Amino acid sequence: MAIKVTFWGVRGSIPTPGIDTVHFGGNTSCVEMRAGSAIIIFDAGTGIRLLGQKLLREMPVKGHVFLSHVHWDHIQGFPFFGPAFVKGNEFSLFGGNSTTRSLAEALAGQMDHPNFPVDIGDMNASMTFSDLQEGQVVEIDSGTEHGTIRVSNTRGNHPNGVWIYRVDYAGKSVVYSTDTEHYAIVDPKICALAQGVDALIYDAMYTPEEYLGKVPGAGPSKVGWGHSTFDEGAKLAHAANVSHLYLFHHDPHQTDDDVRKKESRAQALFPACTAAYEGLTFEV
Ligand SMILES: [Zn+2]
Ligand SMILES: [Zn+2]
Repeated sequence: MAIKVTFWGVRGSIPTPGIDTVHFGGNTSCVEMRAGSAIIIFDAGTGIRLLGQKLLREMPVKGHVFLSHVHWDHIQGFPFFGPAFVKGNEFSLFGGNSTTRSLAEALAGQMDHPNFPVDIGDMNASMTFSDLQEGQVVEIDSGTEHGTIRVSNTRGNHPNGVWIYRVDYAGKSVVYSTDTEHYAIVDPKICALAQGVDALIYDAMYTPEEYLGKVPGAGPSKVGWGHSTFDEGAKLAHAANVSHLYLFHHDPHQTDDDVRKKESRAQALFPACTAAYEGLTFEV
């Protein structure tokens, strides 16, 4: 097994604790990948707090953190990421939208006085912040005979921009594609990036009915909000010939029952499909 993936937060927009979301979980986006001895983290939603507690038992920690973008639900756990406060740990952070604020400015900004009592400068781990360019490949040493892990990217379709990431290691591959809205055709950039991957983690926030605003009580049309649906995920999975599809970034309105229904409808379109839940682990 080359890449081990663990979901720490699978919810979109805002944390949703409560009895109706116990199974899939209420924490916002955070996915851990292990490849060789490397620790790679995608997004720093509230799920990263619990991942941090696990990593505190593995110190000193050297990690690579890739942020899809800096909307709150993808960074709000970062000020509570314990290992970042411990001297001797090292984190390389990647992302940024390359237009208005740098990644470092955006992460520091959410901790600014008077919104948060601790300054980012009080995080004592060694940290570097890199704003990515489209098509840039980040290479990470796996510490094994398999050599380098490659993290490549493309741009998704989301307000303020988003990075879609692909991890390749030892002949296996995973794409992390959250917060992106489909087009009338399958997104050619994501389809190319995800071609033949072992696992595709995809923004399946809405049902098609929710997306069009046709569900009483579930709000207006979401067209243009920058999110996708399970059926568009299935279309993409077919077009890109992926082995397994993971539905991700569940809408805060969706109860466990709702997500289960979404999963079974998606499986009718693409059988190798699982709705991601907190604690789910898989290996490729
Ligand atoms: Zn989001
Ligand atoms: Zn977003």
